[in-house]
Amino acid sequence: MEYYDLGLSGLRVSALCFGVLPMGPLQAGLTVEDGGALILEGLNRGINFIDTAEIYQTFPHIRWALERFTGNVVLASKSIAVTYQEMQESVAKCLDSLNRDSIDIFHLHAARDSNPLINRAGALEALLELKNKGIIRAVGLACHSVKGVLQGALDPNIDVLFALINHTGIGILDGNVEEMAEAIALAKSQSKGIYAMKALGGGNLLDDITRNINFVRFEIGVPVIAVGMLRQAELEMNLAIFEDRPVLNELAERTGQYRKKAKVTFLCKGCGQCISLCHNNAIRVLNGKALIDETNCLLCGYCSRGCPQFAIRVI
Ligand code: SF4
Ligand code: SF4
Repeated sequence: MEYYDLGLSGLRVSALCFGVLPMGPLQAGLTVEDGGALILEGLNRGINFIDTAEIYQTFPHIRWALERFTGNVVLASKSIAVTYQEMQESVAKCLDSLNRDSIDIFHLHAARDSNPLINRAGALEALLELKNKGIIRAVGLACHSVKGVLQGALDPNIDVLFALINHTGIGILDGNVEEMAEAIALAKSQSKGIYAMKALGGGNLLDDITRNINFVRFEIGVPVIAVGMLRQAELEMNLAIFEDRPVLNELAERTGQYRKKAKVTFLCKGCGQCISLCHNNAIRVLNGKALIDETNCLLCGYCSRGCPQFAIRVI
């Protein structure tokens, strides 16, 4: 496993970052023990970087693993908080849930917000204050838009960017692959720490996993990538890719079959509350039922958390 400095943050992280979104209740809903055991296995195999978020509801899984691991782990979390007070509460909740006094990276979770540094000025102020107190080591910005990455690249308050990029451009809100690549290059030129998300399009790009991950590593030039994992086979596959070992055909075929789908069940009442939660404009309501446009769906599961009927699942 290779390790890289995240810009000037002083944080040195493994190329493979353990993304925990898929194991949480928005998606597969692994038990704390099953999810925690897989995270622990990843840590024992050389991963030292975990990416989560308040809305993923995976703090218990991470805590389970950390309580059984003695090495150093770099933790990144994020919050959709907008105001100063909301962000203070989010960070406090994160630290309490993880039983920690501080956290390495805390992002503004601004997936669909293309103007996050203006729209979340209060939340950013809270993060900067917490950084000054040593409670947060690096302030981050996680976003899916080219405009957001450009803003983060040029803002001296942002230490680390978590940017969406993949070879098809699926999920980029306001531009194409080339434009996001240029924004990332600008961020790198400004010595920002940068790591990538959705190299596999949230599960849409499983046709050639090695090629799609290596596109981000080598063609975009972002060696640190968060990859969501919830099975041992996926961990083995990703360790092989990031350690530049040959990937066994059998393993590649097996992991390529783990395709997810966002499903709307019969419980849907057509209220439309899920529409605004989708950062990719993939939901509409037709004839009293939510419909998901699979070509735009990133399989993130964010819509499911806002459904009062529990009618959406990504499985
Ligand atoms: S929020 Fe739930 S019930 Fe309402 S439209 Fe969406 S899926 Fe249907
Ligand atoms: S429809 Fe749901 S799972 Fe698909 S991109 Fe939108 S929020 Fe994510």
